[in-house]
Amino acid sequence: MFLLNPHQYTREYPDEESRGIMLKTIEFFENKGKVKLKNDDHERVWYQDFLDFVKKEKIFAKLLTPKEYGDPDSRWDTWRIIGFNEILAFYGLHYWYAWQVSILGLGPIWMSKNEDVKKKTAQLLKDGGIFGLGLSEKEHGADLYSTEMLLKALGDGNYVARGSKYYIGNGNKASLVSIFAKTDKPGDSENDYSRYVFFVVDSQHEKYECVKNLVNAQSYVAEFKLNDYPLTEADILSKGREAWDCTLNTVNIGKYNLGWASIGICTHAFYEAITHAATRNLYGKYVTDFPHIRQLFVDAYTRLIAMKLFALRAGDYMRTASQEDRRYILYNSIVKMKVTSEGEQVINLLWDVIAARGFEAETYFSQATRDIRALPKLEGTVHVNMAQIVKFMPAYFFMAKEFSPIPKVDDAKDDAFLFNQGITKGLNLIRFHDYRIAYDSVNLPNANIFKKQLEAFSEFMAQATPDGDQTKDLDFLLSMGELFTLVVYGQLIIENARIYDTGDALLDQIFDLMVRDFSKYSLQLHSKQSSTEQQQEILLRMIKKPQTDKEHYETVWKEIYSLNGLYEMRK
Ligand SMILES: Cc1cc2nc3c(=O)[nH]c(=O)nc-3n(C[C@H](O)[C@H](O)[C@H](O)COP(=O)(O)OP(=O)(O)OC[C@H]3O[C@@H](n4cnc5c(N)ncnc54)[C@H](O)[C@@H]3O)c2cc1C
Repeated sequence: MFLLNPHQYTREYPDEESRGIMLKTIEFFENKGKVKLKNDDHERVWYQDFLDFVKKEKIFAKLLTPKEYGDPDSRWDTWRIIGFNEILAFYGLHYWYAWQVSILGLGPIWMSKNEDVKKKTAQLLKDGGIFGLGLSEKEHGADLYSTEMLLKALGDGNYVARGSKYYIGNGNKASLVSIFAKTDKPGDSENDYSRYVFFVVDSQHEKYECVKNLVNAQSYVAEFKLNDYPLTEADILSKGREAWDCTLNTVNIGKYNLGWASIGICTHAFYEAITHAATRNLYGKYVTDFPHIRQLFVDAYTRLIAMKLFALRAGDYMRTASQEDRRYILYNSIVKMKVTSEGEQVINLLWDVIAARGFEAETYFSQATRDIRALPKLEGTVHVNMAQIVKFMPAYFFMAKEFSPIPKVDDAKDDAFLFNQGITKGLNLIRFHDYRIAYDSVNLPNANIFKKQLEAFSEFMAQATPDGDQTKDLDFLLSMGELFTLVVYGQLIIENARIYDTGDALLDQIFDLMVRDFSKYSLQLHSKQSSTEQQQEILLRMIKKPQTDKEHYETVWKEIYSLNGLYEMRK
């Protein structure tokens, strides 16, 4: 069973403790029940019950404290973090958000050399604390260079912090909020890294003013002000280039979880959709008997399975990352950008199936339609991530390097490198293994058509390379990035389809939609104002039709239909 089913939780863990955490969390939500879950969502009830449960079971302490700082059962183990992400989002994105922004807040702390703050944090986690990351400001969005929060030096290691932050999760209750700011030391230029600084504040301090909740929801996304908040050297986490690196490294790690939130949401919505459609009888036949409904389900299911295969495989690369192997930075950007965008597609497809039912307040689906939209937009928009992804294209296509194959990584280990990554410069030095190894390992009709598309794309890259103006045109580059993303997406999906023994029918059906998507993005790029004749000619050759294999399609449909009635949340 590849999709999460809380009634038959089969995900394997190397120890009973980890599995126990997941089962207890499922039990917590099932005991809470759907009626209360939905009522709390509608009434925007702060999730104190969930936080009390987390505190009692010391869940954040176990899952979010690196081995060095916690009890023996604590470690930062991405395999467990994946499992917990998926369960939380399966029940409600707000619960997931409290956990996710805690992860973000902890990033600059665990990356810091401030041992006292780290020990204090480990204790706060044991006490049931939650955390926050204060990066965003009202006027600056993604532009971190323009940060205005000021840390003013008073001399003798004393400081005051002055300024405000906007859109900060857990900003009402966080035991510590990690704040990104600038010192008042004059810089050499606008982008002088020496002025950046990270420090921690307590959200309950009298000089911390929680202004309001910016969203009308269960979670608290704060605007807050620091009104000459007093600090000493002991509260500083990092300075200068190190502080800047902590920001990017924290986001590089944290954004991975957004893909899992999308997967959790889509999985729960899928059970509701198939069970509704398979039991609804119109004109004397079941809704699932309509061919267009089957096609919608097949597309939604294959997209969801692809999301999960890719995200799991990206996790393997994240867990084995090192100074010499930072391939995970590309893969995580794709988890963030592509997997979350695919999540929106899955919900759109399923909503077309269940139509009016998807509006009903009592369904999980009605909250899924709202929540799934958030994930592509948080922690760097789709555009910001795509702008990062396209930078990897030359290395990916033309500078392949040999690496030992990475296996499935589900052992009980602390992913210590994530907090010891050092400088974020030199993305152009990151190398990748040859994507053709994966593609050559598969011989299925639609994968083979996709390989033909890929060949033409390589020709585009080598012979119709974007000219000077096109490389400055982000609109053109973003479309090209969609094509590149599909190549990487397909590669890791093939790698993981073997590991998880997905079966040929399902893998080929995934490539059926990959062929269609590749054709769609080729046409988009072809239609761009600046595309040249040579580019247009190659792009037209990249548009292909998938090959229909009735047997594969039927096998996948049967797999989907078997999910009918398999899971329903306790009332
Ligand atoms: C519910 C919610 C919770 C949040 N939680 C937190 C939190 O806990 N902590 C925190 O610090 N922040 C948080 N944020 C802020 C979030 O990370 C920002 O919304 C995000 O960084 C984008 O900023 P923006 O929405 O203001 O868009 P802007 O940065 O204003 O972007 C506007 C447009 O320009 C595009 N754009 C901007 N820069 C680039 C670029 N370099 N390349 C290509 N396109 C670009 C964007 O894609 C977008 O289309 C949260 C936001 C929300 C809505």
